[in-house]
Amino acid sequence: MVLTLAVILAWLAVFIIPTQLIINKGLHFGKNVPVSCKSEHLYQTIWIPGISLKAFRWGRVRYQYCPIGKHWSWTHQLDRKARTPEALLDASKVHDLRIL
Ligand SMILES: [Zn+2]
Repeated sequence: MVLTLAVILAWLAVFIIPTQLIINKGLHFGKNVPVSCKSEHLYQTIWIPGISLKAFRWGRVRYQYCPIGKHWSWTHQLDRKARTPEALLDASKVHDLRIL
């Protein structure tokens, strides 16, 4: 019983809650999500709730390698205001390391 409750809570914390936060903020997840590093470099990355093979997660941001600046940086998804056609075009030019 305790183990079942722990599994359910872990599932909520790792998958359901981050997914709901992403959806509520109008953000996306998938194979080609436009992101910006702290130095405002735009590129696309894989963003799947609850799973990180090449990044350290901290809430809605991730610490990962930026292929533009060739540095490790805190990275976030472009929100609705930042998702302009020009920004999406710039981001679509570079994709970080593809795993899928
Ligand atoms: Zn960068």
